[in-house]
Amino acid sequence: MPVQPIQPKLKFHFGAYKISVFNLGFLALDGGAMFGVVPRILWSKLTEPDEQNRIQLATNCLLIEYEQEKIFVEAGMGTKFSEKLQKIYGIQQQCGGPYETPVDLALASAGLKSGDITQVLFTHLHFDHAGGATRLLPDGSVAPTFENARYVIHKGEWDYGICPHERCKASYLKENLEPILSAGQLQLLEQSETEILPGLKLQVTGGHTPYHQILTLDTPEGGFVYWGDLIPTRHHVRIPYVMGYDEYPIETMDAKRRLLKHAVGRNWLHLFEHDPEVPACYLQPTEQEDVYKAIPVEESQKLASQV
Ligand SMILES: [Zn+2]
Repeated sequence: MPVQPIQPKLKFHFGAYKISVFNLGFLALDGGAMFGVVPRILWSKLTEPDEQNRIQLATNCLLIEYEQEKIFVEAGMGTKFSEKLQKIYGIQQQCGGPYETPVDLALASAGLKSGDITQVLFTHLHFDHAGGATRLLPDGSVAPTFENARYVIHKGEWDYGICPHERCKASYLKENLEPILSAGQLQLLEQSETEILPGLKLQVTGGHTPYHQILTLDTPEGGFVYWGDLIPTRHHVRIPYVMGYDEYPIETMDAKRRLLKHAVGRNWLHLFEHDPEVPACYLQPTEQEDVYKAIPVEESQKLASQV
């Protein structure tokens, strides 16, 4: 039976921007590591762990279409994993064999091919974000998945990913990075904020990794914030709910406090890369400082139409 294209979980427009959200596959990570210092008795009420104490996570990526530009944001895990690693990380994804990746299947539903993508943006280079950006070829070599795209990464993150600290060595895999460099498709950013297209910006937050970035879109018709691993799921909107994987957790908390205030003030849509159930929602302030209430996308559209 032919493999079906991966349909978007959500599609929306802001001005001339057309955005589609695709979940390229699931992985399962230790629930304790996902919630850091928060005790299991609290986090297990939000998301139920499996018998190995793992919780299921999505890899929600974006396709952004704007005039002639076709941008892919993050690329999921890809298909280069050994069976052993697939088992450890509980990887489940749809693909048409090793050479037809989840990225190809997502693009197929939008009528596109990997060669049509002009830029690929990354929040950081951990394997569940950058693995799908390179693919295995039938001759056994590995090449960029998007053969004509510029791969846009912060220089600090690239340098760190190539030579990571031993604490996070397992998250940065050489086979995900070196083929991008040898293909000459790498574009390194050096500023703390870079405008990619009008209103579309990458911004360094640190916290999760030293040069982790978020992506924001601000247009007169509305905007979004794609949180990457700064706020991986809707359960991590609470300021102290920070992953144990984060290299600088206090920096994560400070960045969340500041950036959430800004994003909620602009009434941006919040996109959560690893949330398997709610890839996006709006947030409203509450009477309590730094505590927000989630508003489902459909409900907020209803509210807006009543104004
Ligand atoms: Zn990460």
